[in-house]
Amino acid sequence: MVSKKKVAEMIDVMEELFPDAHCELNFKNEFELVLAVLLSAQTTDKSVNKLTATLFQKYKTPNDYLNVSLEELEQDLKTIGLYRSKAKNIQALCRLLIEEYQGRVPHIFEELVKLPGVGRKTANVVLSVGFNVPRIAVDTHVERVSKRLGLAKMDDSVLEVENKLMKLISENRWSKAHHLMIFFGRYHCTAKKPKCEGCPLFTSCKEGKRLIKKEK
Ligand code: SF4
Repeated sequence: MVSKKKVAEMIDVMEELFPDAHCELNFKNEFELVLAVLLSAQTTDKSVNKLTATLFQKYKTPNDYLNVSLEELEQDLKTIGLYRSKAKNIQALCRLLIEEYQGRVPHIFEELVKLPGVGRKTANVVLSVGFNVPRIAVDTHVERVSKRLGLAKMDDSVLEVENKLMKLISENRWSKAHHLMIFFGRYHCTAKKPKCEGCPLFTSCKEGKRLIKKEK
């Protein structure tokens, strides 16, 4: 297992590469944030931002989403993947926000994951980005980078990866480390053709050595 010190050094390297790592979804409040993260499932942040630039003009409150038919909301979301289930979840989520939380987004993990369309990852992003609560949200990039760098095992579940990262990274760096690992995975240690040649973490990365050997 990689030591905490080594992991801190890896995070430092990522921070040098991506000093401006941040949430790339556009939002103006916690309500828009939860919707943007929900919409981003299996869709790029870029496509979500393109959609929400007009969507968030038309719909500003949970009531606004309930004042249209499901079909109309589906039409408004149809540029992104899974738009039918996302439209259904958004209306159910808005209904629950109104009925249970006076139209506001809760800031307790156990309550967030009860919202339709909100899983563990979305809840962690909302807490971390929207409410400044230290959390590590494990998305596809964080999972891949963690496994390649040996911070988790290749067959670990997402929850196991999250638990291991929380043990390996100091709590005061959880939220930043989450963004750094996303940027590192999105722009450097990509799913296909990661930039292993010249990677500043190559010497401590078994997977990089395996991938380069495979290419030759
Ligand atoms: Fe990713 Fe390759 Fe760098 Fe390892 S060496 S962290 S696999 S880019």
